[in-house]
Amino acid sequence: MEIKLAKEMGMCFGVKMTLDRIDEAVKGRNRIDTLGTLVHNPQLVEKLNTQGIQVVNGLSESTSSTVAVTAHGAAPEVYRQAQASGLELIDTTCPLVTRVQQLAKELMEQGDWVIVYGDASHPEVQGILGWANSVFNEAKEEANEGTDDKPKNKVKSWSARRAICAKSVAEIEAALAATGTPAAKVRRIALISQTTQNTEWFKEFVRDVVSRFLEHGCEVHAHNTVCLPTAKRQPAAIDLAKEVDVMIVVGGYESANTRHLRDIASDFCPAYQIERPEQLREEWFKGVNIVGVTAGASTPDYVIKEVVDALEELDAKMHAEVPA
Ligand code: SF4
Repeated sequence: MEIKLAKEMGMCFGVKMTLDRIDEAVKGRNRIDTLGTLVHNPQLVEKLNTQGIQVVNGLSESTSSTVAVTAHGAAPEVYRQAQASGLELIDTTCPLVTRVQQLAKELMEQGDWVIVYGDASHPEVQGILGWANSVFNEAKEEANEGTDDKPKNKVKSWSARRAICAKSVAEIEAALAATGTPAAKVRRIALISQTTQNTEWFKEFVRDVVSRFLEHGCEVHAHNTVCLPTAKRQPAAIDLAKEVDVMIVVGGYESANTRHLRDIASDFCPAYQIERPEQLREEWFKGVNIVGVTAGASTPDYVIKEVVDALEELDAKMHAEVPA
């Protein structure tokens, strides 16, 4: 059985940067609590645990004096609350996520409805929505305080927050209805994407939104904010999936970009996602000549190597079992 690796795969520079920063920070401290999983990779999370780096679900759960924002970023409220509680905050947000947060905020300041294409419960999406909606929150605070800030007067007149997460036109319409806004009244929509979404699905979403909202004379502006490492890994996975009999996708089950790699590969051949080499199953490789391997953006090189070694062992075992 031949094993082929995707041309682009595995840990991205953003996750590497996050790990380096945390590694450096923990040297002078006994403990750091990360606000959510630092990286969606169970082996790494276990290793970090032994160094005093623990995962908590939010500031209220933390008992450490130092907390860290993960590569996925966080809403401005989290920074404010940490400061108000006197906590030291280490920010390891990936610079590409920071760029999307700032873009969402600027679009909101221009008066757009900001639609984030992504998974609503994902911390990155929550953070981006938080930055965009902070424009509304700050304007309302200023209105309450009676501060006269002309540029924000338009925002002050809004009756609801205008940043929402949606993956279909129906979800946008439902969100608009929930704010009491008829779709025909929306004048400008800005579309952005979670950095690890599938580019092709985002393009399809853009086409659907344009087709639905242009009818009302609404302007629709699309910003492709899928990050470059994700954008490179997806076509590399497709190229490989086209030439192999089965694909193994290595990465945490909670990792959105790993799940997307598995989904796009499965259009071309059977594709299985695993977190650890022990999860490989012999029946997946019966009659297989070529197996392809790719990995998500949080998967360390050593885990990929362990999987490749396990595949070689499995192959040797399967051939040894073939009767002469
Ligand atoms: S997947 Fe992209 S956005 Fe996320 S950490 Fe890596 S480089 Fe940054």
